[in-house]
Amino acid sequence: MARVYNFSAGPAVLPEEVLREAADEMLDYKGTGMSVMEMSHRSKAFETIIQEAEADLRELMNIPDNYKVLFLQGGASQQFAMIPMNLMKNRVADYIVTGQWAKKAYQEACIYGKANKIASSEDKTFSYIPDCSDLPISEDADYVYICENNTIYGTKFKTLPNTKGKPLVADVSSCFLSEPVDVTKYGMIYGGVQKNIGPAGVVIVIIREDLITEDVLPGTPTMLRYKIHADNQSLYNTPPAYGIYICGKVFKWLKKRGGLAAMKEYNERKAKILYDYLDESSLFHGTVRKEDRSLMNVPFVTGDAELDAKFVKEAKAAGFENLKGHRTVGGMRASIYNAMPIEGVEKLVAFMKKFEAENAKES
Ligand SMILES: *Cc1c(COP(=O)(O)O)cnc(C)c1O
Repeated sequence: MARVYNFSAGPAVLPEEVLREAADEMLDYKGTGMSVMEMSHRSKAFETIIQEAEADLRELMNIPDNYKVLFLQGGASQQFAMIPMNLMKNRVADYIVTGQWAKKAYQEACIYGKANKIASSEDKTFSYIPDCSDLPISEDADYVYICENNTIYGTKFKTLPNTKGKPLVADVSSCFLSEPVDVTKYGMIYGGVQKNIGPAGVVIVIIREDLITEDVLPGTPTMLRYKIHADNQSLYNTPPAYGIYICGKVFKWLKKRGGLAAMKEYNERKAKILYDYLDESSLFHGTVRKEDRSLMNVPFVTGDAELDAKFVKEAKAAGFENLKGHRTVGGMRASIYNAMPIEGVEKLVAFMKKFEAENAKES
């Protein structure tokens, strides 16, 4: 068996330990004689799985009691519509556009009401996070929206925007559980789990209870109402049961590793290896303003598209998979989520150094 170092932005690397455990339990989950995939979502065994998953997530993120945790489907993208449908009481919301995902969320919100783009970093291809300390927040805004870690461009909000009292809604798909968060600073935190937590098909929503109401936009489908899912403990209909089971295992893996403070420390050490090299290399360069660099997604370029392609090809042959940058940006991107071991980054950098030596520009 040969596992590669998988630098995919998502679906992405999962802890090997979790995959092995799931394999062991595939045919007979804890004496039930069946796989979790084959099990009723109303069974005792699954009830325990989803309840433990929620309890472990609450513990990891220190989620206060006045927030609900929902396990939903439809990916992060479905939230782009679900958020305005449920939260736009005044039909006004402010969006900070720092990348493709924030832009898509903003465009979707425009369908439902007056979405204001109050800040953007599109002028410099989303390579930085704008100053959000004193933005023109709309008086009647129902919420302020951000994408906290920009998966494609590799930027991250290091300080949350000053929302001037309005609820903050954050897409954390690609930085979920990568470091401690103060949940009380948000009205809602959500993310697709396929970046840093589990298999595609699950989206986790953490939402303050007062934001969950019957007062949704007319025509909002039952399945797209937070209240329905909150009232039914995420079991209104059949949830993505197997995915939730794997997420639960990853939560336990994170707890065993010391929780989010320990993960942050590990992720910082890991990212530093790559960023330090990018800063000293004369071939490879990071594309993001230093103070806004993500710990999770690291885009870089040589400045020569042919050389970039050569690097991606040779890296793949050497066991480093999915280093090609997003199709809209080009170059390379290494996604180094929680489950990427530090050895993976060390070996990648060693490979990059070798490539640099072999391809040194004559001057
Ligand atoms: C991947 C990603 C999405 C889209 O997720 P889907 O589950 O494919 O809809 C949205 N936001 C961010 C930040 C992402 O990284």
